[in-house]
Amino acid sequence: MAENLRLEVVTPEKSVVSEGAQIVMAPGSLGEFGVLPGHTPFLTTLKTGALKYKDESGRERFVFVSSGFAEALPDRVTVLAESAERRKDIDIERAKAALERAEKRLQTQAREEEIDFIRAKAALLRAIGRIQLAQTR
Ligand code: ATP
Repeated sequence: MAENLRLEVVTPEKSVVSEGAQIVMAPGSLGEFGVLPGHTPFLTTLKTGALKYKDESGRERFVFVSSGFAEALPDRVTVLAESAERRKDIDIERAKAALERAEKRLQTQAREEEIDFIRAKAALLRAIGRIQLAQTR
């Protein structure tokens, strides 16, 4: 059994995390899940939320992830997210502005405009997730 996992968090734009991890906890669509070295392989979709892991020195690290997929293997966790950033990189003012925009859109939009409504709701969830995670600092 591997001593540590290899954690990779990537988005279409960049690699956000590429390092060893003792444990990874991530927001699966069916609920939060944890992966330790030696875990049975599985694949899952992700919700927007916080991924937590312990780095090789045992320090807790936090990463915001916005939907996507995670693959767990006995020695590796790979997350492909639509967007992701480490907690320390979250710009809280930007997230608050995004929250305000999304709230306005949701208030003014007719519900029949389903696609715009879904988009605005997803933007709202991203903004709330970022603000919540940034405020746990
Ligand atoms: P915004 O409207 O502010 O762009 P968004 O939710 O639409 O927010 P995303 O599409 O999820 O943004 O992400 C686009 C890029 O911007 C990604 O690289 C993401 O990591 C980054 N990003 C978005 N919001 C923030 C934030 N508040 N702090 C730091 N990086 C952010």
